[in-house]
Amino acid sequence: MRYGLFTSEHDALRDSVRSFVAKELIPNADDWERASEFPREVFARTGELGLFGMKFPPDVGGSGPDLVADAVVIEELTSCGSGGVAASLGAHKDLACLYLFNFGSPEQHRRWLVPALAGEIIGALGITEPDAGSDVASLRTTARRDGDDWIINGSKMFITNGAWADFVVVAAKTDPDATHEGITLFVVESDAPGFEARRIPTLGWRTSQTGEISFADVRVHDDCRIGDEGSGFLAIMRNFAWERVAMALAQVASAQHSYEVARAYAHDRHVFGRPVAKFQVWRHRFADMAARIEASRALTYHALRRFIGDDNPIRESAMAKLHSSELAFQVADECMQIHGGYGYMTEFRAERVWRDARLGPIGGGTSEIMRELIGKSYGL
Ligand SMILES: Cc1cc2nc3c(=O)[nH]c(=O)nc-3n(C[C@H](O)[C@H](O)[C@H](O)COP(=O)(O)OP(=O)(O)OC[C@H]3O[C@@H](n4cnc5c(N)ncnc54)[C@H](O)[C@@H]3O)c2cc1C
Repeated sequence: MRYGLFTSEHDALRDSVRSFVAKELIPNADDWERASEFPREVFARTGELGLFGMKFPPDVGGSGPDLVADAVVIEELTSCGSGGVAASLGAHKDLACLYLFNFGSPEQHRRWLVPALAGEIIGALGITEPDAGSDVASLRTTARRDGDDWIINGSKMFITNGAWADFVVVAAKTDPDATHEGITLFVVESDAPGFEARRIPTLGWRTSQTGEISFADVRVHDDCRIGDEGSGFLAIMRNFAWERVAMALAQVASAQHSYEVARAYAHDRHVFGRPVAKFQVWRHRFADMAARIEASRALTYHALRRFIGDDNPIRESAMAKLHSSELAFQVADECMQIHGGYGYMTEFRAERVWRDARLGPIGGGTSEIMRELIGKSYGL
């Protein structure tokens, strides 16, 4: 069993996801990046292949629960040549669907989770707001009771899939005077009157539909409430651990991808009569990158094992997310450096991996917040 995690079945799954990525995603990635979008059908195809359902049981349309299989899917989709495509599929599966599964009712599973895992509808998670990111408890979107309905007002910012999602899991204050204990989760469908979404252009993840969403008296029935009133903050904190493990898996795969792009160029490019790879300074830099990637992978797999152990590994998932996301950007930066001037040109993969990797230390909890969590976990 590789790394004490991957069985021969997981290796077979890896081969089949890799083949899907090689045949159906990589050949289109450059065109999608140029257009800054990719077709919705990619969700349907990914769902058809069962790749959203690995960590969910069959009764909701999954094939698991198998978190290691889900890790395989995350790692392989990351190499699709477009960070935005991988991020969009990931936000659907690891954010929106995970909330529905963990905290939704059987009826909510039937209504949204089953079609979402089949790739028939696209989901997003809306927590961050224009004035509340790291400090989740200070969010200002409100949901006010009106008979059997709730009236939602407010806005959400930087939401992956936000500009084209069919449904959004929204965190809102049902008790505006409370802080974290006043937060409740709702499913809001994007065709509800008063729901507006606009796409926001981004540095990297260019193909992902990052959106700003506003709610103006959006009416949802109480059957759209996920969990009890006031249970939203704990749900968010609980799901963060998997989100961070998932992000770390993607960041390690992204660092590995940047490393391979850099290595291939270093062999091809000749300066002063020899390949760049043959200069000792670059040999050592490649050695450093390889060692750090392997260390980050080990830390990430450690967090994954802790997660499978039915733990809530706050410290390990924060460590893995922090280490891997900072590393992924460092390796992408080295990848750009070894390309010299070509690295700065948009025709070369180096600038795309650099742009895409810059998001890692910001999204899903910044590096500063990860350090806070780790420090506090040691009683500091
Ligand atoms: C491309 C993209 C996609 C995203 N997708 C989603 C999504 O799908 N759903 C969603 O809900 N959110 C999403 N986000 C939001 C993301 O999670 C937040 O941007 C992130 O958590 C940081 O919040 P903020 O941007 O408000 O920064 P702020 O919280 O305003 O932080 C600003 C700076 O202050 C630092 N800081 C904050 N608190 C502390 C502290 N206690 N100590 C030291 N430094 C601190 C931060 O590290 C940062 O450097 C996305 C963001 C991006 C850029």
